[in-house]
Amino acid sequence: MDLISLVVPVFNEEKTIPIFYKEFNKLKKKMKNVKFELIFVDDGSKDNTKDVIKNIAKNDKIVRYIIFSRNFGKDAAMFAGLEASKGDYTTTMDVDLQDPLDLLIPMYDAVKSGEYDSAAAYRISRKGESYIRSFFAHMFYKLMKKITKLDIKDGARDYRLINKNMKNAVLQLKEKTRFIKGIYEWVGFKTKWISYENINRVEGKTKWSFWKLFKNYIVGITANSNLILTLITFLGILFCLTFGLLLILFLLLSLVNSTNLIILFGCLFTGIILIALGIVGNYISKIYIETQNRPIYIVKETEKEMK
Ligand code: UDP
Ligand code: MG
Repeated sequence: MDLISLVVPVFNEEKTIPIFYKEFNKLKKKMKNVKFELIFVDDGSKDNTKDVIKNIAKNDKIVRYIIFSRNFGKDAAMFAGLEASKGDYTTTMDVDLQDPLDLLIPMYDAVKSGEYDSAAAYRISRKGESYIRSFFAHMFYKLMKKITKLDIKDGARDYRLINKNMKNAVLQLKEKTRFIKGIYEWVGFKTKWISYENINRVEGKTKWSFWKLFKNYIVGITANSNLILTLITFLGILFCLTFGLLLILFLLLSLVNSTNLIILFGCLFTGIILIALGIVGNYISKIYIETQNRPIYIVKETEKEMK
């Protein structure tokens, strides 16, 4: 029998956890063909989340928990849970039931068939979300695709059932500024996408302020691309070209006087400084990539598994 690990990051969710646990037990009855492991990761909650989890774990031996010393953020919590999970298949999911538990049935069918390494959920609507928020989210996904060359699906959730192979690959990426959706795409493998309509939170409100979300987007882009640095160099080259054109223009129209020369050389020096910044930036980005310490490649299969 397969073991499915559910990794659930929780941050100040004392009210939500019991509702989630009830739904989880309903799912368990629907999926009698598998065993479950439920791992709560308490991401430094300030309410009674810890005790609520411990209580559940005391009475149910399939429930495990990891408690953080402080709030490290959802991405860190998911990493810890993935690392601790023992399942043949593992998924992270939100505790607020915005990731419908029943989707796990088609997700499991997809990965079980062996055709897919992962099955992921994405929202086809953003009902109930503010207009500005969804506008920025859509813009972000478009921009992200262009800049990073990673094909991150618009509306993708962190709700994704992955096999052991893919989990081990994800765990090899140990960078501190984590953007899990980018990481899932970066490691490759084959994913089945399953769509659903957006669902609102059962209890409480979102833990992501607009600012936190924005910072997360910036991490997503800077962790996966240095195009922005290259733009600086281009800007520098543009200034130098402008210098050249103006010089020719001024010579032709015999406009060479001290004021115009100051403007001209201002243009040239700005160009040189920007190019230099771009070059320095590119070296720094190489250092950044090295310190990210990502593996050079990820193996999906070798002949060992075929025997
Ligand atoms: N969460 C977390 N650490 C944080 C923020 C959120 O572990 O710093 C958890 C939260 O308890 C929930 C999930 O991440 O299980 C998603 O959070 P939320 O519903 O607030 O985000 P949204 O659905 O609005 O993206
Ligand atoms: Mg939510």
